[in-house]
Amino acid sequence: MSPDRQAIDALRADIVEVGRRMYARGYTASNDGNISVRLDDHRLLMTPKSVCKGFMTPAMMCITDLDGRKLEGERDPSSEMLMHLEVYRQRPDAMAVVHAHPPTATGFAVAGIPLDKAVLAEVLTTLGSIPIAEYATPSTAELPAAVRKYIKAHDGMLLANHGALTVGADLFSAYYKMETIEHFARISLVARQLGGENLLAREEVQRLQQLRGTYGIASPAPICADGVSDGPDGAAMCQVVQSPAGGGQRLVPVPSGLPPGRLDLSGDLGDREIRLTYRELSALIEDAIRSLG
Ligand SMILES: [Zn+2]
Repeated sequence: MSPDRQAIDALRADIVEVGRRMYARGYTASNDGNISVRLDDHRLLMTPKSVCKGFMTPAMMCITDLDGRKLEGERDPSSEMLMHLEVYRQRPDAMAVVHAHPPTATGFAVAGIPLDKAVLAEVLTTLGSIPIAEYATPSTAELPAAVRKYIKAHDGMLLANHGALTVGADLFSAYYKMETIEHFARISLVARQLGGENLLAREEVQRLQQLRGTYGIASPAPICADGVSDGPDGAAMCQVVQSPAGGGQRLVPVPSGLPPGRLDLSGDLGDREIRLTYRELSALIEDAIRSLG
């Protein structure tokens, strides 16, 4: 059913409010970011291009069809309209899309570090894992292509060297997911500065998944147990969360005595410097000699 004029005016005011909050919280600078809402099965309400999200008025919003043709509004729709259109095409359940550049989450996106560790129960029950979509030139057709890989199975993702994207069953739920991503990124950063995160064990993650079902919190896809997640078209079909087996414990502690960063040795460190104590270095050399023998 299509919303009447009054309902559309209320949504225009909601977009203004969400834009104001994003700008006030530093999720966007200058004219960054964009917001859209699905009005019915053929129309979207969207922020216009080149306006600061902190100073919008309801009259500025554009109405477009699902192919991006402008139906109403004095201004042109957002420069990231193609990304929004792709999300609505891939996710019939999505009623709103929010894109911003919150600085800590974007820092993870720039460092190439996904927010996919099992750390906080409320993140696992609202978003699950937060992967990073491959880098794409903003405003081009590359960006929707990069987002396509993850959007069927995730309500939120980082965009490499760019920002973050969330979807929701209504505008405020999409916006709150953006808040959750930034909040989680800040907590993860602090935990890593303090030596790393204790992780929730796999059994606990499964328990949280069941609770999510019990409380009726919609999830676009389950968490994959085995890490295999790609469908035939290369799109992720489930969510990969880093949660080691707990062996009866609900938390798996950070290995003690290891410097921060040691946990990341499996990743590609390139030429980056790592620091090891003399004992750790000796242990590594001993291991290497043993594997030769
Ligand atoms: Zn952007």
